Amino acid sequence: MPKGIFKVPIARNEPVKSYAPGSPERAELKKEIERMRSEVVDIPMFIDGKEVRTDNTVSMHPPHDRKHLLGHFHRGDASHVQMAIEAALKARKKWAAMTWEHRASIFLKAAELLAGPYRMKLNAATMIGQSKNVFQAEIDSAAELVDFFRYNVQYMMEIYAQQPSSPVSIWDRVEYRPLEGFVFALTPFNFTSIAGNLPTSPALMGNTVVWKCSNTQIYSAKVIMDLLRHAGLPDGVINLVFVSGPVAGNEIFNHKDFAGIHFTGSTEVFQNIWKTIGENIHKYKSYPRIVGETGGKDYVFAHPTANVDHLVIALLRGAYEYQGQKCSAASRAYIPKSMWNEFMEKFEGMVKGIKMGPPEDLSNFYNAVIDEASFDKLAKYIDNAKKDKDAEVIIGGGYDKSEGFFIEPTVILAKDPHYVTMEEELFGPVLTIYVYEDDKMEEALDTLDNTSIYALTGAIFARDRYAIEYLSKRLVDTAGNFYINDKPTGAVVGQQPFGGARGSGTNDKAGSQLNLIRWVSARTIKEEFVPPEDYRYPFMEEE
Ligand code: NAD
Repeated sequence: MPKGIFKVPIARNEPVKSYAPGSPERAELKKEIERMRSEVVDIPMFIDGKEVRTDNTVSMHPPHDRKHLLGHFHRGDASHVQMAIEAALKARKKWAAMTWEHRASIFLKAAELLAGPYRMKLNAATMIGQSKNVFQAEIDSAAELVDFFRYNVQYMMEIYAQQPSSPVSIWDRVEYRPLEGFVFALTPFNFTSIAGNLPTSPALMGNTVVWKCSNTQIYSAKVIMDLLRHAGLPDGVINLVFVSGPVAGNEIFNHKDFAGIHFTGSTEVFQNIWKTIGENIHKYKSYPRIVGETGGKDYVFAHPTANVDHLVIALLRGAYEYQGQKCSAASRAYIPKSMWNEFMEKFEGMVKGIKMGPPEDLSNFYNAVIDEASFDKLAKYIDNAKKDKDAEVIIGGGYDKSEGFFIEPTVILAKDPHYVTMEEELFGPVLTIYVYEDDKMEEALDTLDNTSIYALTGAIFARDRYAIEYLSKRLVDTAGNFYINDKPTGAVVGQQPFGGARGSGTNDKAGSQLNLIRWVSARTIKEEFVPPEDYRYPFMEEE
């Protein structure tokens, strides 16, 4: 037990660097990019603190520069998943017993290493490996992951401090135990910070973890693993495997000690996982915790009183930053007819000015989509929209995968508010707009509410305060993160806890107490100081 009620350092958001021409960080980053591009790396799995290699290697290439070889990763199989589970279970006893301040110290140290010596490494890896521009990398792989580490420590303390009251002669207390078993972290390609947070938040609460990242994020996942090891994470606490999702799922969801999944990714994958867990429920020692943040069909709704200039910028950034590959990206918009001409003239001018190219050229705002499967899927939706009578491609619509997976920022005008790209998540730089008649706003709001299965993020633009109040109430169930006169992306840890409802996930708000509480199983302890001397109660005495 600790010999003191220690105060943890007060969490603060990591300042975002500008990388403006002439800044020291720009020079440092360029050097790191050059170094990484000149190397061919060999990336093993990390199980029980050891590097694990196989005969089956897979090459890695930047999405924007297909011919360039970054290196290889070692693909594992079912036996590696079993090794990772065993390592996690072996490490659990010691890790779960470690006093909280030592667990906290590891992640606080990781935060400072990432804010300092690892910053450029993780930013450069994210830029090259996932095709992110420098600003998008900085707010993700540097700032947000630092924030997750710092704030999660503070939230852990706030949870531990939640204690019941104790009447005379009794001491009631609650102990926040880690889950009994191991946690599976299954992470997406699009945010390096999410890939880092999903295994580390359960680990901070005393759990041990099997981590399977996306194949297209392995290049930066390796840097996260190096960082955690440097910060002193003991062997076996987080075990990283490179296997296909179904191979991992087959071993993990059939294991009796499977205690929970921390997932971010698509809705379809999550729903299948939930079904499998349900079917296997009799196999587990405990009811597994199922935490999943999934897809979105995020909206921007403009009221006739909206400021058009603010709307245009928010929609451009919301729809096209990181090529629209954010779960929170604006992918459908509702614009009143009275505003349409002015809006379109300004929006088109700005979208056509977007500079596209590789992220290593820092003047590019916009880069490639993640892989060929995503490119082909997006190209198909665009081609269909070019032919369909209910839609019209009014901006962009071009694509080219000769050098890298480049898709132009695209706008589809939907004549039918239920057109397929108003409903389905495309996960790319395609925004669909529906123009509503000003006197049919109620109908438009009904459509917005009922169009898609998701409820992740949404934004309204209006100047009229009555309209702001009305829309905020009217759209209460449509988004877990709701924005007023701002883009629906860019949530910051400690400021806007993030997550959606309906088909968008379990809404356990990454970067908050609500999330960390899912990784503990509370034990209530009642201690009686003066036990009764007689079984009989006073009411039984003779009058
Ligand atoms: P994905 O669902 O394809 O993959 C996520 C992870 O699941 C990957 O590691 C993948 O290998 C694995 N996986 C895929 N199929 C599997 C299967 N059958 N069994 C087990 N594992 C499997 O998602 P992605 O393309 O990496 O990421 C994009 C998706 O993530 C989008 O839908 C996006 O909206 C969502 N996302 C949501 C949030 C959020 O906070 N709500 C944040 C980021 C991304």
